[in-house]
Amino acid sequence: MARYTDAVCRLCRREGMKLYLKGDRCYTDKCAIARRNYAPGQHGQGRKKLSNYGLQLREKQKVRRIYGVLEKQFRLYFEKAERMKGVTGENLLRLLEQRLDNVVYRMGFGDSRSEARQLVRHGHFTVNGKKVDIPSYQVELNDLIAVKEKSKATEKFKSLAEAAAAKTAPQWLSVNPEMMEARVISLPSREDIDLPIQESLIVELYSK
Ligand code: SF4
Repeated sequence: MARYTDAVCRLCRREGMKLYLKGDRCYTDKCAIARRNYAPGQHGQGRKKLSNYGLQLREKQKVRRIYGVLEKQFRLYFEKAERMKGVTGENLLRLLEQRLDNVVYRMGFGDSRSEARQLVRHGHFTVNGKKVDIPSYQVELNDLIAVKEKSKATEKFKSLAEAAAAKTAPQWLSVNPEMMEARVISLPSREDIDLPIQESLIVELYSK
């Protein structure tokens, strides 16, 4: 599957804000935003005021990068969100939140969504008892997401579970770090998505 493999800190610098793509490092003074908060490249320090279109484009790129989704797939999420009942922008964010890699990250397993994605890809998780190794898998209400039995006994997962116990999960997930599992007790609402996103800009961009 295609994915972005370039230095991820450049993505934060391009968006002019922390996207928290690297786990622990993002909270230290080694963070590239703390050290060089201007766009990468030769002309990065001469950033111009953005047009409306520029703002909409940057917002879309920001969300894509936070969730680690490529353009084509992001567009498909948008089209699905448009077909759903309710507010398109909120539907879009909800669909992204329901990705299995994001859920694993929200459970506290992995310091970043990309680390959580690797854990999923390597087949360490089950949904309702069945192994699922597809990061984009959409979890649904009442689904039980759990670490595979064989993986639970490993030192790696024991320490991931310890770390998860110290993190706060969103209200829509009931997480049991000791059992290394979580239940989807409601679908994420807009208030549950604690990211500085103006999703209406993305809707405006795609509605042109
Ligand atoms: Fe972004 Fe984290 Fe890199 Fe800072 S350390 S620039 S928040 S990915």
